[in-house]
Amino acid sequence: MKIGVVGTGYVGLVTGTCLAEVGHEVVCVDIDERKVAGLKQGKTPIYEPGLSDLVVKNQKAGRLHFTTTLGDVAGAYAIFFALPTPPGVGGEADLRFVLQAAEDTAKVIKHYTVLINKSTVPVGTAEKVRDVVAAQTDVEFDVVSNPEFLREGLAVSDFMEPDRIVVGTSSKKARDVMTELYHPLTSNGAPLLVMDEASAELTKYAANSFLATKISFMNEIANLCELLGANVDKVREGIGADERIGRHFLYAGIGYGGSCFPKDVLALHRSANMHDYDFKLLDAVMQVNTRQKQILVEKVVAHYGEDLQGKTFALWGLAFKPDTDDIREAPSLDIIRELLGRGAKIQAYDPEAIENAKRVFPHITYADNAISVLRNADALLIVTEWREFVAVEPALLARELGDKVVFDGRNVFAPEPMAQAGLAYISIGRKAV
Ligand code: NAD
Repeated sequence: MKIGVVGTGYVGLVTGTCLAEVGHEVVCVDIDERKVAGLKQGKTPIYEPGLSDLVVKNQKAGRLHFTTTLGDVAGAYAIFFALPTPPGVGGEADLRFVLQAAEDTAKVIKHYTVLINKSTVPVGTAEKVRDVVAAQTDVEFDVVSNPEFLREGLAVSDFMEPDRIVVGTSSKKARDVMTELYHPLTSNGAPLLVMDEASAELTKYAANSFLATKISFMNEIANLCELLGANVDKVREGIGADERIGRHFLYAGIGYGGSCFPKDVLALHRSANMHDYDFKLLDAVMQVNTRQKQILVEKVVAHYGEDLQGKTFALWGLAFKPDTDDIREAPSLDIIRELLGRGAKIQAYDPEAIENAKRVFPHITYADNAISVLRNADALLIVTEWREFVAVEPALLARELGDKVVFDGRNVFAPEPMAQAGLAYISIGRKAV
């Protein structure tokens, strides 16, 4: 099937590339000329495991094209909108990018087309897109809500082997197109859940808000563990063994970040407010997260005092989670700002996110690897749980760090070996050693 994708960011690029990989002919459009020029030369603008190879392979095979000209999607039967939906002034999703792209796309379509909202958008957006498009064209079209659930860092495998594909449409014709489009994935076992547009739109917000709730809940339990002398890792094992709870997404840490959870929880809360519903639980989820993002700095201050002049901190990790270069809303940003504000010096290392971090903090020091970043540092802060950090020997940390202190925001290490190596080890929800 000939497919268009408008917006070639994390979601659009993965969607377009994976749909080309399963045999469709895909044209990806973006307004960012540099991004498109790079992609045409096989340069993937984001770090996502496995993605680069697929981009190059499918371009070579002639199934994947990149352009800045929206008119190039004109012949497609299905056009995805994978555009940003940032928070507006009141926290609601700002639909400007989606509605503008829909209006512009309406002007170029030539025959029946299914227009697909892949962006995370509030209930009622399919209708808004329908109105905007209908005002511009007499060509027959349908609007479908098809939210995306991929996780950065696992995006390719999540797209290729999804837990479910949610399709919101009340049109039989659009449903048939979506069924054909996703057939290569459903024939491998992925369930296609067809529902009305409003339910599909809400499903995405409900999923992200539920996951954020799990994180905030475990962070509260971790904070209580510290006060009560319990160990959050043990509590996690204990509750995770209950099938009704499950083992996933129960890790305590320094709060959720990224481009999705913070804005989606806020947008759902705002959406509820706009319908005179006070979603108390989400209020608490957000408050807990804001506090949790400060917790590592609080531990630093508890150890060193408010004034951090003359102290140098090494940071392991800048990305909001491992296996991505994405630093949007990452806890690292708050931590760096707070430490700099107290007069500390920062030297940071991340396997993939340094270039993005340099745009926000051009004046801190960046290192090439997890060991060289420790040189001349007094203490280490672990901010992102990249796998390569786990392999570093506690003895090496003890040798390199001036004050022999590690603040672990992701519980990467077990406390005992750290203590045995002579380190002061301060982590989340476990007794400091
Ligand atoms: P992104 O910022 O990485 O990408 C958006 C792209 O759209 C950019 O490349 C931008 O240049 C382009 N763009 C903006 N206006 C355009 C226009 N008029 N025409 C063509 N291109 C245009 O965003 P993203 O992370 O891919 O997120 C897109 C949507 O998907 C958001 O609603 C987000 O909430 C949702 N989502 C994101 C993820 C994720 O993990 N990143 C997962 C699921 C859903």
